[in-house]
Amino acid sequence: MKYGEIKMYDIADGPGLRVSIFVSGCSHHCKECHNPQLWNPDFGEVYTEKTEAEILEKLSNKHINGLTLLGGEPFEIYNQKELLQLVKKAKTANPDLSIWCYTGYTLDKDLVPNGKVYTEYTDEMLNLLNVLVDGKFEIAKKDVSLLWCGSYNQRIIDMDLYNKTGEIKELFDYDKKKVLRQEYEERMKATN
Ligand code: SF4
Repeated sequence: MKYGEIKMYDIADGPGLRVSIFVSGCSHHCKECHNPQLWNPDFGEVYTEKTEAEILEKLSNKHINGLTLLGGEPFEIYNQKELLQLVKKAKTANPDLSIWCYTGYTLDKDLVPNGKVYTEYTDEMLNLLNVLVDGKFEIAKKDVSLLWCGSYNQRIIDMDLYNKTGEIKELFDYDKKKVLRQEYEERMKATN
């Protein structure tokens, strides 16, 4: 696996202060993607045991609330094995750690048995996520007034519920995502 960037103190990709890893490789090629350099699975740095240890070390900082997996595409088949190892170790070290993942795939279509990118690692990885933001970025549905997603088709799915019951429920409705964005902008203004 390769990755483009690891961010410490990411405040844009989930609640609170997060460590984020932007993995390389994405076959969705959404129009006006913000990270087209990450479409190429060979872009960036090689992810090694040392990289994993560095991320786990960053996550042990008491100010960090969570880990976010994004890219690129975390659920490309070639990215799943190493991300699962990372998520497993992160949850073992801190079971309360919030784990978010962004995918252009669709949970109930692509990440289930016989789905496009379903592997021997998929279920275990989904099981360890607290939130999955799924669906491609669709330029025709772009909505900058929403927090934590780029277009309104993307779902912010409660994975705690999904993993217990199999029900797919979004954490926030459209209006709540707007309110969250306004609150986020206000916080940003106050800190600048
Ligand atoms: S899924 Fe994300 S990284 Fe991949 S092309 Fe779409 S916007 Fe870009």
